[in-house]
Amino acid sequence: MNSSDNPRSAFDPHVWVIDLDGVVWLGDHSIPGSAEAIRRLQDAGRAVVFATNNASMTPEAFETRLNGHGISSYGNVVTSAQAAATLVTAGERVYVIGEAGLIDAVSAAGAELVGGHDDGPIDAVVMGITRSFDYDMLRHATRSVLAGARLIASNTDTTFPASDGIDPGNGALVAAVETATGRRAEVAGKPHQAMAKLVASQWQGQGICVGDRPETDGDFAVELGYAFGLVFSGVTLEADLPVRPEPRIVAADLERLVESVLD
Ligand SMILES: [Mg+2]
Repeated sequence: MNSSDNPRSAFDPHVWVIDLDGVVWLGDHSIPGSAEAIRRLQDAGRAVVFATNNASMTPEAFETRLNGHGISSYGNVVTSAQAAATLVTAGERVYVIGEAGLIDAVSAAGAELVGGHDDGPIDAVVMGITRSFDYDMLRHATRSVLAGARLIASNTDTTFPASDGIDPGNGALVAAVETATGRRAEVAGKPHQAMAKLVASQWQGQGICVGDRPETDGDFAVELGYAFGLVFSGVTLEADLPVRPEPRIVAADLERLVESVLD
């Protein structure tokens, strides 16, 4: 079939923004075919960007982890922690609830990190997923926000897929602070503007966002002006269709999605 026979062959995006959880891996397990599909895109000269709302790890740690799955990603990882760090300014006093990825990003932005027992004024509370979340953190965040600190969330994904089931996401932690304070967090990661700006400032051209979650990956595609490619290898199943926003392409997994565009 040549291009004049197949209208879909006109769709050949240059920038591929690929989600990690539920697309490349589930927990520690590679999703079969994803590494080969990514290599195929890279060999075909496409820009492959890895965009994750997981703020717990640094981009370098994600590169190492991707490498362990046979995927080369050097300089092409964007995290919601980096996006959240664009919402604080140098010199601000920031209480971070999160892990290494968020702590590194916020301190690299020049903010002063303050601990949970610091009594001084706090400019912002920045929240990302951490498995050590506890009542003391909730109390300090609540008091800081009630005293005037901005509430910033790396992301508000309610859950994320683990290899043995569904785990509560940062959205569940942020909801606790929002409930206690009556304030709404400013959200940095997919599908929000801070993360879109990070992508758009580094990669240009027609693009596609591939992900397993319409309300993050799909809306992120809309924010970037990209197509949305939905895969059923994560939290969304084919039985959940129709979804909003409407995907340009649906596929069982990344391997089949890439095949349907490149073949
Ligand atoms: Mg995902």
